Amino acid sequence: MRKTAKGKERRGGRGLSMSARAVHAGEPRKRYADSITTPIVQTSTFVFADSREIERYTRGGKQRYEYGRYGNPTATIAERRLADLEGAEDCVVFSSGMSAITTTILSLVQSGDHIVITDDSYKKTLEFCRSYLKQFGIGCTIVPFGDYAGLEKAIRKNTRFIFSESPTNPYLNIFDLVKLKGIARRHGVLTLIDSTFATPLNQRPLEFGIDLVLHSCTKYLAGHNDILAGAVLGRTELVSRIRDLHKSMGGTIDPHCCYLLLRGMKTFPLRVAKQNETALKVARYLEGHRKIRRVYYPFLESHPHYAVAKSQMSGGGGVVTFETKGTLRAAKRFLDALRLCYIGPSLGGVETLITHPALVSYYDYSRKERYELGITDTLFRLAVGIEDAEDIIADLERGLRKL
Ligand SMILES: *Cc1c(COP(=O)(O)O)cnc(C)c1O
Repeated sequence: MRKTAKGKERRGGRGLSMSARAVHAGEPRKRYADSITTPIVQTSTFVFADSREIERYTRGGKQRYEYGRYGNPTATIAERRLADLEGAEDCVVFSSGMSAITTTILSLVQSGDHIVITDDSYKKTLEFCRSYLKQFGIGCTIVPFGDYAGLEKAIRKNTRFIFSESPTNPYLNIFDLVKLKGIARRHGVLTLIDSTFATPLNQRPLEFGIDLVLHSCTKYLAGHNDILAGAVLGRTELVSRIRDLHKSMGGTIDPHCCYLLLRGMKTFPLRVAKQNETALKVARYLEGHRKIRRVYYPFLESHPHYAVAKSQMSGGGGVVTFETKGTLRAAKRFLDALRLCYIGPSLGGVETLITHPALVSYYDYSRKERYELGITDTLFRLAVGIEDAEDIIADLERGLRKL
């Protein structure tokens, strides 16, 4: 059991189930005012009793909080809980997933360096690497997902890391983490995986030797479509560098938001287990439907990466991507007939969400550009919530009848 400033920590660690750790890990044993829930320490600054206390602190003799951007007790509990779930030495939480991603990337590179990223990474991550890093003299090679030989060839002497995701958006491609680690080891580069779609229930990349894991906690970990949050996890040596830069970049998570993240995390194994089950049922239903052209779900035998998915994940996740037959006009009719599924971006919350990438995320691309990326007119991404599969299937059926 780890020691904290306030005595022994309540539990986490290997002996307990993911569900028990999601509720308890990171909480100090001694409860503030005997409260069962985590206190929200809603403060921007932390005060010193006297000059002696300042000196004890500045000489490094005492661990304590000083200013909100450098740390907050509610955030520390979230960091410890996430580290426990992911099996990491250390964790930093951020105000959003993108804040975690950009701060992490910037802490690992300097002018003259080079990075490698796969082409179906999150749109804003790709944009950041392709456009902004260039302004600082950092090279970026974008390689097609799944081209492991091309990925290895893209590595140069000055390459610092390989960044990828698994599963990816929207095709739910699965990165072979064993292969990735092998390539990285041969060339002495770091590996970063955005594991947002998987969550620590379905996949723990650190167990495969991946160096840093990133999450948009906005999605499954918080799980209620009500906050934005992000995290990076890994070895203390790397994470403390990121924490240092975070203090300057300032993507600090608010304590109240942290409380909502902690509350959401308590039920995330329950929610994700149900979402795994529901998504597989929905994927099977869609695959058998005569108005559906194609279904992408990593735990469907028809998925190109089914074997890899089964070898490194314990659940297929809550997202199902599919293409209907017909035209863009028909696709809109399908969307407009839905009554249960909300139309909107994001995923991982309790409400089922459906998005039409061509109309939403790629509205500013030409049809030709979209088709080159595989974003066709009739492609949909369904992120199942915690409703029963039967409810979601009935709603989809209502839409498909209009197609
Ligand atoms: C949503 C998302 C992000 C960005 O996270 P925010 O919390 O929205 O900033 C990054 N990566 C993936 C895979 C995501 O789904």
